[in-house]
Amino acid sequence: MQAIARPGQAGDSIIVRPQPNNKRIKFLTKRFYIYSLISMRFACLGSGSRGNGLVVEVGDTRLLLDCGFTLKETVIRLSRLGLEPEAINGIVVTHEHDDHVGGVARLARKFGIPVWLTHGTLRSVERMFTPLPVINVIDGYQRFSIDDIEIEPYPVPHDAQEPAQFVFGNGALRLGVLTDAGCSTPHIETTLSNCHALVLECNHDAQMLANSDYSWSLKRRVGGRYGHLENAASAELLGNLDCSRLQHIVAAHLSQKNNTPLLAQTVLSSALNCGIDWIGVASQDDGFGWRQLF
Ligand SMILES: [Zn+2]
Ligand SMILES: [Zn+2]
Repeated sequence: MQAIARPGQAGDSIIVRPQPNNKRIKFLTKRFYIYSLISMRFACLGSGSRGNGLVVEVGDTRLLLDCGFTLKETVIRLSRLGLEPEAINGIVVTHEHDDHVGGVARLARKFGIPVWLTHGTLRSVERMFTPLPVINVIDGYQRFSIDDIEIEPYPVPHDAQEPAQFVFGNGALRLGVLTDAGCSTPHIETTLSNCHALVLECNHDAQMLANSDYSWSLKRRVGGRYGHLENAASAELLGNLDCSRLQHIVAAHLSQKNNTPLLAQTVLSSALNCGIDWIGVASQDDGFGWRQLF
């Protein structure tokens, strides 16, 4: 018989058998497997109409969702997260607007990174993307995986050819991302229910947009059903989701003219009945740092 001390409890001991305990080994192996399965985190390079980029990491797989920054800026922003561009295994694109796709082709070409996008988005950016190392066309309703990351695309109403947004997971944990959607739909709400983390567009405050110096047509575009989610609509959507597993929520794609972080935090916190401090905000300049899922 052999006595060993529990970590951090000097003098307190437990008894273990000297022979290998297969049950215990199996248990530890299972625990290690579960730990490695659920090791998942995400961070943001920047969010807003001047450029977007979100990094999702599961185990050793790292994906970049959109890249709306110059090559130099992307490399700088990745290094802030401790990442070299070579560490990115793939780029997933939501749609063809420049704040999401503007930096994708150069990054993919320079570092040989494969790209995933819908047929409609590819059609819109084909000239910019020729040639690229690897282009993978996805179905906006069909789940797929890239190494350790499971990806669930879903279509959204936005003024683009075939826009898609995504839920990323590892079989146990789910990160839902929704930006660039003019309104919610039942399918969006079903897809985003039961996520462990949400990055949710809070583009503008309806009153600030109405009072802004934007032209009538731009106000109609931004505030329309194929434009961007306003704060109250995001809060309503959030209120319709099952948020019982939610560990992180971050307001994203905020308009710098027609919104404030405090307004976005206030509406989302009232929808969740939680403190304002619990609502993260993705900024244009800094995005946000790593957030770990458990
Ligand atoms: Zn956008
Ligand atoms: Zn857009």
